[in-house]
Amino acid sequence: MASRPIVFKCPNYQDCLTGYRGEDIEVFPGMVEVCPECGSVLQEVKKQTPAYVAYLINLTIVAAFAGALWLAWPWLSALLTTAQRR
Ligand SMILES: [Zn+2]
Repeated sequence: MASRPIVFKCPNYQDCLTGYRGEDIEVFPGMVEVCPECGSVLQEVKKQTPAYVAYLINLTIVAAFAGALWLAWPWLSALLTTAQRR
């Protein structure tokens, strides 16, 4: 079982290029959590779903629903017309 690395960022924005660029530094368990460039103690990046991803998922669901409704509309329309005649 390979352990997954933890993503860190260097907090040294002013003096370190890695920190300035906001580059991800992957640290495997057991490794020292310091920046390979400046030696600062790293800050862990908390993984969470960005808001735009949730928005995209919602948009996809709405689009799929609208598409399904549009495709089914002739059938639904015919069904409603038949129901009204009775
Ligand atoms: Zn650094």
